[in-house]
Amino acid sequence: MVYRDQMLVCEECGQKFVFRVEEQRSQEALGFEIHPPRYCVECRQTITTSPGLRAGVVKWYREDKHFGFIVQIDGSEVFFHRSGVEGDTTVLQEGSPVWYEVIATDRGPQAINVHGRERIAPVRES
Ligand SMILES: [Zn+2]
Repeated sequence: MVYRDQMLVCEECGQKFVFRVEEQRSQEALGFEIHPPRYCVECRQTITTSPGLRAGVVKWYREDKHFGFIVQIDGSEVFFHRSGVEGDTTVLQEGSPVWYEVIATDRGPQAINVHGRERIAPVRES
């Protein structure tokens, strides 16, 4: 595997940023396929600063790979890992509604505390 710095363009602000070799190595070390981030580091922080529970729909989940993606209300997708799922993974059927929080990681936004509707207390309507 040849690593080299990649120049990417942030989908949020349009600024160029570097996807560094070290980031690529750490992704691979974690067992992930190398996955270029969509946003620059600053935008990753901004996008993920809105706290609290979000609702989305499971796009897919790979039991063998222990990760998947959630389609969010705004249509964007967020990565999640098995370790960020509460309880068992039976709630992770394609198209199932899930609730979750988003945190910033080295790989960009990641959903944690992912759970199905039946597992949580009633959500306050806003
Ligand atoms: Zn940006």
